[in-house]
Amino acid sequence: MILDGKKVSNLIINQVKEQMRDIEDDVTLAIVSVGKNPASEIYIRNKMKMCQIVGINCIHYHNNNNHVVEDSIVDLIVDLNRDPRITGILVQLPLPEHINEKRVIETISPLKDVDGFSNYNIGRLWAGDSCVYPCTPDGIITLLEHYGINVSGKHCVIIGRSNIVGKPLAAMMLQKNATVTVCHSKTENLEEITRQADILISAAGAPKFITADMIKQDAIVVDVGINYDEDGHICGDVDFDTVCDKASYISPVPGGVGPMTVAKLMQRVLITKKLQEGKVDIDV
Ligand code: NDP
Repeated sequence: MILDGKKVSNLIINQVKEQMRDIEDDVTLAIVSVGKNPASEIYIRNKMKMCQIVGINCIHYHNNNNHVVEDSIVDLIVDLNRDPRITGILVQLPLPEHINEKRVIETISPLKDVDGFSNYNIGRLWAGDSCVYPCTPDGIITLLEHYGINVSGKHCVIIGRSNIVGKPLAAMMLQKNATVTVCHSKTENLEEITRQADILISAAGAPKFITADMIKQDAIVVDVGINYDEDGHICGDVDFDTVCDKASYISPVPGGVGPMTVAKLMQRVLITKKLQEGKVDIDV
């Protein structure tokens, strides 16, 4: 069965649209990006398009100069933090190598951190306190929940330990009482571990490297990867055509986790608005 992220994300988008009807003030997302990165340009375009659909203003602060000095990006974020017209701030990663991403992210006020990447937020996440859940992991959890998949007690194997997908997802899965294994490029005998997974979530960024022999019969497979195959077509980490016969549920690429991430971002902008208004009920 297909985990249809397009369909489920539309439900979220409609909820956001409805919530926006009740909001009289302007809601504005600031997207900050640096340099030329074709993949980032596509992601930003999708986010801006979705903002327009739900009625959120979106301002893209783009510095085309790959050699821009770090301080100027930090200064911009300080200004956006102070600007009452800006509801949420998103820094499109990756930044050019000479820029310290951590410093830039840490400059974002936790009240405007729509991605939930700040140490403050990640610390709260691991402590089990209410926080802004990072968009992609939260999108994955919502997608599973929509299809009635209860992760409690299940062995969830996550491939990838990045701060934006693997690590926060591990924390969220633990909170949902899954038994979690996190794998990465130094993991030995990866196949042995993936074959034990009731739920396998791949966020490695390696095209079609999860093959049918790496999963157990009827496993639930979630593909986070956004890659390009040798013909230049978009594909995930999972070799969908072979794995789909063995999996009980599988998310496609495109149309799986990607649209969920963008829909969750729209929700996050409204959550940061509530945070700033002192309505701190952020477990939505
Ligand atoms: P990173 O490059 O930051 O992390 C990749 C992780 O996968 C690392 O932990 C790396 O290990 C691990 N890894 C890479 N190759 C292998 C391998 N062959 N075997 C085991 N582990 C491996 O990527 P991101 O987390 O930012 O993104 C991962 C993928 O998800 C990308 O394709 C990205 O485009 C996509 N993505 C999709 C989103 C969506 O909305 N659908 C959102 C965000 C990302 P190590 O730590 O040892 O290097």
